[in-house]
Amino acid sequence: MEATSFSSGTQRPRLAELHTHLGGSVAPSILWSIAHDQGMKLPTKDYWEFENMVVIKEPFRDGGGMRRLDEKYYKLCELIQSSPSALSPAVRNVIGGAYRANNVVLHELRFNPAKRNRAGERDLDYIILSVINGVERALLEYPMVQAGIIFELDRSFDYKLNTTLYEKACKYQNRGVIGVDVAGPQDDHFKMEEYVDLFVDAKRRGFGVTIHTGEEGDPAEMRLVVDKIQPHRIGHGIRAATDPKLMDKLTEQKIALELCPTSNLNIGIFKTWAQLRHAYRTLLEAGVTLTINTDGPEMHGTNLTHELQLLEEQEVFSRAELERVKENAFRVTFVKPNGSADSKLQL
Ligand SMILES: [Zn+2]
Repeated sequence: MEATSFSSGTQRPRLAELHTHLGGSVAPSILWSIAHDQGMKLPTKDYWEFENMVVIKEPFRDGGGMRRLDEKYYKLCELIQSSPSALSPAVRNVIGGAYRANNVVLHELRFNPAKRNRAGERDLDYIILSVINGVERALLEYPMVQAGIIFELDRSFDYKLNTTLYEKACKYQNRGVIGVDVAGPQDDHFKMEEYVDLFVDAKRRGFGVTIHTGEEGDPAEMRLVVDKIQPHRIGHGIRAATDPKLMDKLTEQKIALELCPTSNLNIGIFKTWAQLRHAYRTLLEAGVTLTINTDGPEMHGTNLTHELQLLEEQEVFSRAELERVKENAFRVTFVKPNGSADSKLQL
């Protein structure tokens, strides 16, 4: 795939965002307006107080501790987005906003339709079509941008519900759903082995497969994912830095990692920049294909340009290394180049 397929016509560097969750990507001002449009009762009537609830604002400081959003406020962000009328403008704003602010000309946005339907109250197809509509509207406004949607399965869901989501991904594959993922914290009830066939089938159907694994703890599940599923990419996967054999497999199989630095620090995966630097450089020097992403720029109080600047300032990567990392994202995207019928959104 030629990187030039995604040129933007501006002098600013063009960027690709491959790992961002819709739940953490909508600007607080848009969330606020959408909530008011729907007549939702919010925990505060003060916009600035609301913004403090849904955005991690202070820059990370070494040893500053974990900075997860309060779970109830993350759920509030999802709830505000959880209707067909809310999703289209939310998605449109995410893609348009990233282009205007950061020249993100290639945008893969992931979400879980079953976490946007108010526990079954709303029909999944309407939810999905609303997201597709939001992407299409953004691409009409900003024709230099290309975008695709990744459906997240979830570790907290049972196999049946996850399979339903996969069936929906298949149904909308020619409408811009380009990939399948699994997200959510480790859950004793979730067994990755049960999903091997599903992901092998997804690859056979031409989906991009990326899996959140190896973010924290023992990389045992990540080893299984690499051996049995061989996904195209892995969300985070930073624990591979402690396992040379696993890094060798990632390199041999050309499995790319989607790294999200500020997210790693906020969540407490690394306590200091030095720890992050060591892990990221170990992966780079082992030859693993790396990409840099935000995981949800609005929630983490960052953006893609800022992430790249931080990595240079903190001497994680040199400028030349960062250039290669930026280009990696254009090579490993699930969005096919311009003109490819199987991934271009059909209007
Ligand atoms: Zn993620």
